[in-house]
Amino acid sequence: MSLDGTYDHGNIFAKILRGEAPSARVFEDDHVLSFMDVFPQARGHTLVIPKHSVARNLLDEEPQVLAGVILGVQRVTRAVRAALNPDGIVVTQFNGATAGQTVYHLHFHIIPRWDGVALGRHGAGGMADPAELTALAQQIAAKIS
Ligand code: AMP
Repeated sequence: MSLDGTYDHGNIFAKILRGEAPSARVFEDDHVLSFMDVFPQARGHTLVIPKHSVARNLLDEEPQVLAGVILGVQRVTRAVRAALNPDGIVVTQFNGATAGQTVYHLHFHIIPRWDGVALGRHGAGGMADPAELTALAQQIAAKIS
């Protein structure tokens, strides 16, 4: 999919938001929902998505929505740090298939990094154990402040 196009209400993140698909939920407020990535590039790979949005990517998003979204990203990133004590944290997002985007509802990746541990390839990892994701989600949720 290119950078242009219309929002597909059947995308997996829209289904998660509507409660039609499962997720290991970490955090929710008026603006964002956060849950664990099921194909994690590292232990603790967490996603943050806007709740009230039909933006496929960052470029589509209404500027007034972004403030709440990025504050949610910071809040969850701080909780990931507190819960998992990584050496570094990648916060990123992809726009368009050429850039690596695979799900077309705006989202931010929070990926903890540890010295000496290689980063898994984006979109090429195996599916995580759901029980492990639930445990990680609880650990991170406990550190939301
Ligand atoms: P992107 O490729 O930037 O669009 O990111 C989409 C991310 O969503 C990838 O890292 C996938 O591993 C992840 N993903 C796909 N399906 C699900 C799902 N059902 N629950 C949680 N994460 C998902």
